[in-house]
Amino acid sequence: MKKRMVMMGECMVEMYQLVENVYHQSFAGDVFNTAVYLKRSCEQPVDVQFFTAVGTDLISDKLVRAVKREKLDTQLMLRAKGARPGLYMINTDAYGERSFVYWRETSAARQVMQCFASQSSVEQLLGADMFYFSGISLAILSDADRRALFDLIHQLKAHGSQVVFDPNYRPALWSSQDACRAAFTEAYQLADIAMPGLDDHKVLFEHSTVVEVQAFLQQLDVAEIIVKDGKNGVVGTYLDEGFAAPAHQVKKVVDTTAAGDSFNGGYLAARLAGVAPEDAVKYAARLAAFVVEHTGAIVNKEHFQRFWSR
Ligand code: ADP
Repeated sequence: MKKRMVMMGECMVEMYQLVENVYHQSFAGDVFNTAVYLKRSCEQPVDVQFFTAVGTDLISDKLVRAVKREKLDTQLMLRAKGARPGLYMINTDAYGERSFVYWRETSAARQVMQCFASQSSVEQLLGADMFYFSGISLAILSDADRRALFDLIHQLKAHGSQVVFDPNYRPALWSSQDACRAAFTEAYQLADIAMPGLDDHKVLFEHSTVVEVQAFLQQLDVAEIIVKDGKNGVVGTYLDEGFAAPAHQVKKVVDTTAAGDSFNGGYLAARLAGVAPEDAVKYAARLAAFVVEHTGAIVNKEHFQRFWSR
């Protein structure tokens, strides 16, 4: 039967500086990036539903069209009246250093749980094979909406959905580290698959090695753990069996944006196709290596063809 994946998060307008005062406009956001690479990696038909809220303006319509162009299902892209998508600009200085500026405090995606309560129902999500969310999906919600999301995930889990969580810690989005740690711990307790980056755990939980992260997540009863450590590759455990995958050699790292997101997408596509975790990480590492050789979060479709011909 066709697998179904529900992926919840925020997609923003991305403005990427080409040359001084000239910007390329696209759309990106951690969960959206993962959804795109997951869908592009699937050889078998898989329904990938992007669950978010957008506004009722023209740029929101454009965003929905961009999501459709990636062959993602847009039924769960709910509409928040009068709201707009968030936006960020990537500026590059004379030394090639990139900096990000965000306008997301009032983005439509923050209203996703309220839109869900009025426009949808849990029945629409039941039966999904996987539910994917990140620490950013949690960070943009009010306390009450975060509680509503956890309740929803409990229900989905009780009906057999596998739950996947990547913390993607963004300090600026949290009122305190304590609030964030509490939310992430709750998310991990719900997760069947956890895909953290070591860097997030260094800052937030004071773990200094991938082994410490693994031990922490095993204590929380996560069955499938993939800890990402940039160019040092990943280590994983599945039902207490350990495995590892080195990062792929890259001729030239151009832009590491979405390395972790694409890795997650590739990994989950392989897992949905029945590939074992120790092999799924190898495919994911190959995909992430390709992505870091290109500019921006989403490698455009024409260039992406080259990934398949390697
Ligand atoms: P996250 O941002 O989620 O912490 P990472 O930065 O650890 O993710 O990167 C995820 C994966 O992307 C790595 O496990 C590796 O496979 C690949 N990757 C990241 N940086 C590089 C690099 N410089 N060269 C090759 N592969 C990389």
